[in-house]
Parts: sequence; structure tokens; C-alpha cells
Amino acid sequence: MKIRCMKCRDIIQGDKKGTSIRCSCEKVAIDETKYYTRIIGNDEDGEEIK
Ligand SMILES: [Zn+2]
Repeated sequence: MKIRCMKCRDIIQGDKKGTSIRCSCEKVAIDETKYYTRIIGNDEDGEEIK
């Protein structure tokens, strides 16, 4: 899954290993494994890119 931060416009992508990956302003982060995907941050700060 890819998420774009609405604040700094960074695009971050989960690595499927559970690493918490943050955008450069640290408003949003993604933690993705093959079992679950967790988005950290406020809903309005990030949007999923399909
Ligand atoms: Zn950001």
C-alpha cells in the first residue's frame, strides 16, 4: 500500500516487513506486513494511492 502525506506530499510505501516508514514531516507513517497494514496518523493527513 502507498500513502501520500497531505502535508509534505511525500509518498511512502509499506515494505511488508512491519517496518514503520514515516514521511519526511512525520505526520503519517505506514506499517505493513503480509497480515495487516496499519496507517499511523490522522485520517485527513494521508491518502491512499491506488
Ligand atoms: Zn509528511
